[in-house]
Amino acid sequence: MKKLLPLGALLLLCTLSVNAQKKKNDVLKQLDAKAETYSEIAHTIWGLAEMGYLEEKSSALLQETLAAEGFSIEKGIAGIPTAFVAEYGSGYPVIGILGEYDALPGLSQEAVPEKKSAGGEAGHACGHHLFGTASTAAAISVKDWMKANNIKGTIRFYGCPAEEGGSGKVYMVREGVFDDVDVALHWHPSSANAASAGAALANKSAKFRFYGISAHAAAAPQMGRSALDGVEAMNYMVNMMREHVPEDARIHYVITEGGEAPNVVPDFAEVYYYARHNTRDVVVDIFDRMVKAAEGAALGTGTTMEYEMIGGTHELLPNLTLQKMMHDNLVKVGGVTYNEEEKAFAEKISKSLGNKTLNMEMAETVQPYKETAEAFGSTDVGDVSYTVPTAGLGAATWVPGTPAHSWQAVAAGGMSIGSKGMMVAAKTIALTAMDIFENPKTVEAAKKELEERRGKDFKYVPMLGNRPPALDYRK
Ligand SMILES: [Zn+2]
Repeated sequence: MKKLLPLGALLLLCTLSVNAQKKKNDVLKQLDAKAETYSEIAHTIWGLAEMGYLEEKSSALLQETLAAEGFSIEKGIAGIPTAFVAEYGSGYPVIGILGEYDALPGLSQEAVPEKKSAGGEAGHACGHHLFGTASTAAAISVKDWMKANNIKGTIRFYGCPAEEGGSGKVYMVREGVFDDVDVALHWHPSSANAASAGAALANKSAKFRFYGISAHAAAAPQMGRSALDGVEAMNYMVNMMREHVPEDARIHYVITEGGEAPNVVPDFAEVYYYARHNTRDVVVDIFDRMVKAAEGAALGTGTTMEYEMIGGTHELLPNLTLQKMMHDNLVKVGGVTYNEEEKAFAEKISKSLGNKTLNMEMAETVQPYKETAEAFGSTDVGDVSYTVPTAGLGAATWVPGTPAHSWQAVAAGGMSIGSKGMMVAAKTIALTAMDIFENPKTVEAAKKELEERRGKDFKYVPMLGNRPPALDYRK
């Protein structure tokens, strides 16, 4: 038989929980009151649309916002000019909130429901302008709550550049900037609200460069050696290799340089490759075989080859101890409700995607909690998740049914639909951080889970080796 609590203790517990709920409601109200300010910040970053490692103005804007709120700022961390950490408070526990702000090349788009370039080089097709801003908003609201209630501990915002292919966080993990963090929280823009266990594919990417000899392609082809032949021979071999790798592996490439004119034998050509799988050992194996294919291609075409590692990330390690807390808070916060104007915008976006019906429930409600997830993309949060207990969520910043990396994602992210979804994330992260500060035992449970999941022999080895940050990969 369960032991019954005395009435006095029960009443105390009830009062404590009512107080905790009131504090949470106050934080939610404060975030609502500043929603317009954060929307403006996100919109400014959306307009800047700066690509990986080039996010100087976006990073500076978030730094200024946090500094004005009393956070101390350390910028240029891990050898990356646009990476920074903003900190408030001191001592245990240390909660880090991750933020991103890089845009994607070639996806410039106005905030309208039809495809229309804004005339720029890049666009926020992954919603990282919302990601960075909402995480900033969460950090500030937690700071306000800590200050008002004399809460011990440290809240940090990590400004993480170049998630899209640049593996920014990997250098930060490698440099140890997360080593004294107890818990890391993050989120990602999405077309639904969900805080289930996350998954992401391990990834290795590199640019393979072939060097040949130029010559007149008609008058003296025998004098030339085509660098493009090297690229094509490599691609041929890698495409044959697809039959002999695990079927859930992903290999993709683009030819970034293939010569200038057909009548000149190209003396330089470059192909940019990704290899992905949900187990990083498989990725390492596939990548090593890709290098052999490149070496063979160079040998057979009389060219020379060198390759540069560009990115490399671990798969994402879930932490269910934290994840369930995140889910419960997301349920408390709830989804978003569109006004008439937003509904009309959403209908048009949905039609442009070829969807027959617009499933508004995706934005309005929270998806049921799941402890397993399938991985499709990759994220450098994976490396953080192997270092620190990490939990995240997705919030509906895009019209239901919108895929990431589409013009439709840029469009919704540039108007009120994106701003509304972003506040769901800011609130959920803030409430989760509050729960952790108030129940430090959670930190120990989460750390224990991390140790069990990664195994006692685990040693962090960055997938991209010891190269310096690829600061010019978008130049
Ligand atoms: Zn993204």
